[in-house]
Amino acid sequence: MSVDGSLDRLRREGHIVIVGASLAGLRAAETLRDEGFTGALTIVGDEPHEPYDRPPLSKQVLLGRVPADHTTLPRRREVDAQWRLGVAATGLDMAAKRVHLADGAAVEYDRLLITTGVRARPWPHELEADLDGVFVLRTSDDAAGLHHRLSAGPRRVLVIGAGFTGSEIASACRERGLDVTVAERGSAPLVGALGGVVGEVAATLQREAGVDLRCGIMVTGLEGDSAGRLRRAHLSDGSSVEVEVAVVCLGATRNTEWLASSGLGAGPRGIACDAGCRAFDVRGIVTDDVFVAGDVARSPHPLFGYQFLSLEHWGNAVEQAETAAHNMISSSTDRRPHVWTPSFWSAQFGMNIKSVGVPPMADEIIVTQGSLAERRFTAVYGYQGRVIAAVTFDQAKWLEFYQQQIERAAPFPPEFTTVDRRPEGMHPVPAGFPDPSLPSHGPTVTLSGHSPSDRRISFTPLSA
Ligand SMILES: Cc1cc2nc3c(=O)[nH]c(=O)nc-3n(C[C@H](O)[C@H](O)[C@H](O)COP(=O)(O)OP(=O)(O)OC[C@H]3O[C@@H](n4cnc5c(N)ncnc54)[C@H](O)[C@@H]3O)c2cc1C
Repeated sequence: MSVDGSLDRLRREGHIVIVGASLAGLRAAETLRDEGFTGALTIVGDEPHEPYDRPPLSKQVLLGRVPADHTTLPRRREVDAQWRLGVAATGLDMAAKRVHLADGAAVEYDRLLITTGVRARPWPHELEADLDGVFVLRTSDDAAGLHHRLSAGPRRVLVIGAGFTGSEIASACRERGLDVTVAERGSAPLVGALGGVVGEVAATLQREAGVDLRCGIMVTGLEGDSAGRLRRAHLSDGSSVEVEVAVVCLGATRNTEWLASSGLGAGPRGIACDAGCRAFDVRGIVTDDVFVAGDVARSPHPLFGYQFLSLEHWGNAVEQAETAAHNMISSSTDRRPHVWTPSFWSAQFGMNIKSVGVPPMADEIIVTQGSLAERRFTAVYGYQGRVIAAVTFDQAKWLEFYQQQIERAAPFPPEFTTVDRRPEGMHPVPAGFPDPSLPSHGPTVTLSGHSPSDRRISFTPLSA
């Protein structure tokens, strides 16, 4: 309890506003109530839907196994909130502690949590983006539209960008028996997230599944017919492909524009916050009453040289939301840091891919179990002599062990013995990440900000 009782008052009768009614926003609201917050809670979301889950949108929904409007997130508990859905927050007045809404209303807060996430980066040419048949995939409405179009049996689908979302869409299309061309600017699918060595495995998987995969290629233009329907895509090698559907999978843009003149440290890379989820203002001073969580947040992590990490990971959104909510109603000494070890999964081409740590930070990689050729393996990533990440293809059971190695800053190459070690796993090789200054579909973890030290650290997880 604070000395003057203000924290008690906040917990009892304060007003907390959450902007962004999705995974992070919902989990934060539930945590606030779990932890005894009995004041007023307002949740603002620009989508008209109740919070829903996005990972199924590029998987089960496109396969027709789950309707797009059936991915509503399960509720852990009643949150007793005022929901303002279908209305965007348009501005923030930090001095007046007020959020302005698109319908002209304003909501005052004692504490604010921002969970506005990211949106799909659109095709850069507006007229081409408007052609009938050109899609992005971020929302359930996007998924419903794309599923509907795929069900009509287009002659060929073009996926632009072979990151996780693009690769999952290509996989779903092949599973549905549709012809697919994937155009990827980098040297292989998933290269921005997992590097070139693993990217080559992903490329083989795609080609074996019948994908017309074209790497080192950019789509230079989309062409429609006289009725405005997509008909053809032009590629940077001078060729063209006849397509009826194109899905633009060029990464994401952080939803921060509404904060432009607020004085908050928000920009294209997200909203910078401290390890306790408190947002920084533009002067680099941490705020007392504005918190941030989920895909829109950018926070320093002790395991990764205190670099600011932007993560587009489901698990991070949940964990950071829970930490932010706890800290919003706790005294400074009871607050806890957000030190979640990044982890991510994907299902594509019959493969269960999992990642832990931050692969794009690595310079080397070694296959510690299984074999790349068999596409069943564990690859460990090293950075300056320590284990920084691990990726499994159909070997998820080992991931927890590797997570411990990362958290212990274990030496790289690994010194432990493993089962099923092959000759190819005896020596590390370059991990093959593209130059980060080259635009690509983007990794799922973005490293940015000051790295005060590359020295070896020891890290003790909270649960230890
Ligand atoms: C197709 C797809 C597949 C995925 N698959 C995986 C996977 O396999 N594994 C994995 O780990 N992760 C996956 N993810 C990522 C995961 O879904 C995200 O990390 C997670 O949704 C982040 O939650 P969030 O609440 O931070 O942000 P979001 O889910 O992006 O929600 C932000 C919400 O805020 C709203 N908003 C934005 N601006 C405003 C405003 N000004 N006012 C009000 N509301 C606003 C947005 O419309 C949105 O509803 C996938 C994502 C997609 C799109």
